Parts: sequence; C-alpha cells; structure tokens
Amino acid sequence: MSGDHLALDLAVTIRHDGHGGVADDLAEAAGLTRWVRAHSAAFGEDAAVAAEFTADEAARTAVAEVRTAVRALFARAVLPGPPSSADAGRLPSARQALDRLNAASALAPVAPRLDWPDDGAPVASHTVPGSPAPADRLGAALARSAVAFLAGPDRELLRACPAPRCVRYFVKEHARQEWCKPSCGNRARVARHHARRREERAGSDG
Ligand SMILES: [Zn+2]
Repeated sequence: MSGDHLALDLAVTIRHDGHGGVADDLAEAAGLTRWVRAHSAAFGEDAAVAAEFTADEAARTAVAEVRTAVRALFARAVLPGPPSSADAGRLPSARQALDRLNAASALAPVAPRLDWPDDGAPVASHTVPGSPAPADRLGAALARSAVAFLAGPDRELLRACPAPRCVRYFVKEHARQEWCKPSCGNRARVARHHARRREERAGSDG
C-alpha cells in the first residue's frame, strides 16, 4: 500500500525558499517528474509507474490540484490551530477540496487481490484494473494516501510549523514537539529573543 505520509510529502512541496518567500517544487513539469521519481518507493503498487514517470503540463496541473485539495483539508485538520501561511487565504472550501480529492481517487480505483502460493502463506496486494494513464494512476495514488492520512490517527498530530517564515505541515513525533525541525525552533527562539530585547529597549526609552 502507499505510504500515508506521501500526502504530507506532497503538501510540503510548497515550502519556505530560504529568503523569506515561498517556493514551489512543482512549479514546472520537470519538478514533478523529479519529485515523483524521488518518492517512487512510497507509491506502493504504483512504484514502477512512478519510477519511470515523466510529467507533462497536464499532469502537473492535475497533481497541483490534488495538492491544493490536500492543503485545504490539512488547514481544516489543524483547527483550531493556525494553517500554513503559504496559501491560507486562497484555498478552496472543504467541500470543494473533498470533491476534488475523491474525483482524483476515482480516476484509478484499486482492487484487492489475493495470492496464495502452494508452498506459502496468502498474500494480499492491490491491482489497478484496466490501464489508466500514468498521470491518473499517480494522481489517484496521491489522493488515496491523503484519504488514508486524513481518516487515520496521524491527522490529530498534524501541525503547521509556527516558526517565522516556515510554511511546513508536519506530524508531531512526540507530545512536546513544537517545530517541524530543530532549526525552526532555533530560529523561533532567536526571533523571540530579539522581540524581547526590542521591548526592553522601548521600555527603557520611555
Ligand atoms: Zn518549520
């Protein structure tokens, strides 16, 4: 099966660019090709398709729409906490996001399959009946990953990193984790320190 965190990996292709702005790893078809191939193992039964995938602009648009739906539903999942600031003001409604996600999933439905070798234990796997286009298969796999993630236990551990300039979603790995990674915690502490210094100076001036 696809890794549940494939949807999270997709969401964070919108990221801080290191200079105070927001970068999009999937801004061009070549970026999607690179991303899909780098994550091919996480596509489960679609891994072979992912490993040889070459994106065109239509595929890029389709995957970007799945990503927008995922980010809209992530923004809902982290409530009452704040969403990622990268796109908080321009996300579709939850209803539109659900429709988009479910439509992408339906482009390549999977069928459970049982194999039971003469000399071994039964093995369950999934097949994709028919021969949907690779872009539809991969878009559906991403949508399935989002379905599994959002309906699963990790949804409640999802957070938008509150560090200055960071726009990442992450899954908390322990109860007290506040930041997506240690460098974000360091940056936030430095920012708090400077804010305190400014307040102290303003206080002594007045
Ligand atoms: Zn962060």
